[in-house]
Amino acid sequence: MKLATVRTATGTTAVRVEGDRYVDLGVADVGALLALPDWRERAAAPGTPLDGPVEFAPVVPRPGKVLCVGLNYRTHILEMGRDLPEHPTLFAKFAEALIGATDDIALAPESDAVDWEAELTVVIGAPVRRADEAQAEAAIAGFTVMNDVTMRDWQFRTKEWLQGKTFEGTTPLGPVLVTPDELPGGVRPALTVTATVDGETVQKADTSDLVFDPVALVRYASTILTLQPGDVIATGTPGGVGHARKPPRYLADGSVLVTEISGIGRLQNRARTA
Ligand code: ZN
Repeated sequence: MKLATVRTATGTTAVRVEGDRYVDLGVADVGALLALPDWRERAAAPGTPLDGPVEFAPVVPRPGKVLCVGLNYRTHILEMGRDLPEHPTLFAKFAEALIGATDDIALAPESDAVDWEAELTVVIGAPVRRADEAQAEAAIAGFTVMNDVTMRDWQFRTKEWLQGKTFEGTTPLGPVLVTPDELPGGVRPALTVTATVDGETVQKADTSDLVFDPVALVRYASTILTLQPGDVIATGTPGGVGHARKPPRYLADGSVLVTEISGIGRLQNRARTA
């Protein structure tokens, strides 16, 4: 099943996506849907067909938590000459950073180093704390696509990364949530993640190369606090970010960033000076 949050004249609504058809589920957004204990039944119910075209909001517009993971692709870590990490590096974004699948990325005038990070992203579908393996698997509602757009100059101002990671209106999330039963590998999906900038492929990797897979990340994060329905965990980015290029390359006014994961979908966002 594929679910999305689309904009309406009065706000947003959650839809089931069936090819190029959209079925209105009568709930404000996918986050509100996932908060219903019977969300799987609600999402599968007949619903009302919605006339297109539609405009995607962030698939979960206001997640209680946007957790992110640094340094998590085995091949990329080893090629950088680093040891594989013992623990995940966790950081966060706030909901104000999120945008829809085709919205513009706000280039803040305060940054000269706006970079891309294509990421497979877990969406939580049930409250879970100190999850064992089976509980973590069951708590994963599905997967979506995020680009963890990052102001590198702000990220590296201090040892903590947060300030470069959560500029407003920068981070596309969507277009859809896909349930694990539709993906090869299920809750540990083996998918191709790519990013292009102005048509040039800059990142390409297999999501089965993660050091800490989605189930391991749910277990780890839920040790710290309860994960709630609608929370998202971006699982980290593979090699190919602009900051690592020589010379570095960043998004400029008008740059088109396309972020795609096979079997899930595609984000296409134009960078615009805010
Ligand atoms: Zn990232």
